[in-house]
Amino acid sequence: LTSVQSHYLEDVLRLKPGDTVLVFDGERGEWLAELGREGRRTKILIVGTPIRPQTGPGDLDYLFAPLKRMRLDYVVQKAVEMGVSRLRPVITRHTSTERVNTGRLRANAIEAAEQCGILTIPEVAEPISLEQALADLEPNRVLVFCDEDAPCGDPLAALGSAKREPRPPLAVLIGPEGGFSEEERGRIVARDGVVRLSLGPRILRADTAGVAALALVQTVLGDWIA
Ligand code: SAM
Repeated sequence: LTSVQSHYLEDVLRLKPGDTVLVFDGERGEWLAELGREGRRTKILIVGTPIRPQTGPGDLDYLFAPLKRMRLDYVVQKAVEMGVSRLRPVITRHTSTERVNTGRLRANAIEAAEQCGILTIPEVAEPISLEQALADLEPNRVLVFCDEDAPCGDPLAALGSAKREPRPPLAVLIGPEGGFSEEERGRIVARDGVVRLSLGPRILRADTAGVAALALVQTVLGDWIA
């Protein structure tokens, strides 16, 4: 255990040697474990066999303009809960926060995975420009472009147009508080395989837009369908 993990188990959850917890390492599934002690240090003893096999990583990139600290924490936690596999901060023309603490993003991703029983921790990428992020997307990845200027329509039908078998890899793009510039909008829609999505008649805050978009995407194209 790291000192942070020991502190959490002993001082926050107040667990004692002999208490059990579920543990996972992102590679070998989930195990029932018992807390033990070695000198002054708490340690984990794995008991028995895995109780849940490792789940495969999904294939859903979340491209987002970074927000200020607390709201960024929220964005990361909610995106992980909603099943994204890669967190990719992108710097756009109107992004107000360019410095991103990727260690903090990762800590938030781990915490969300722990709380929601997600066995695969999403990757956290270093921030890059929107231009570079678009260039890096594999050609077959469908990009769901959440555009506050898109005319309101039928979001299920819009996403349904990208439905095929096997299911395509996906990416969702959410802009900054200041929205996208016209030049960025033109660059994004010029790419093949873009679904320009309206999230209804109201402008949503970027953190709300992320959750709404991911719910729609998981419903029509993702893992909410059995
Ligand atoms: N400042 C912009 C404006 O007033 O037009 C709003 C930007 S909004 C706070 C941040 C991001 O959330 C947008 O760039 C977009 O990706 C997403 N978003 C918010 N509302 C949306 C909507 N109704 N439809 C599609 N995307 C939306």
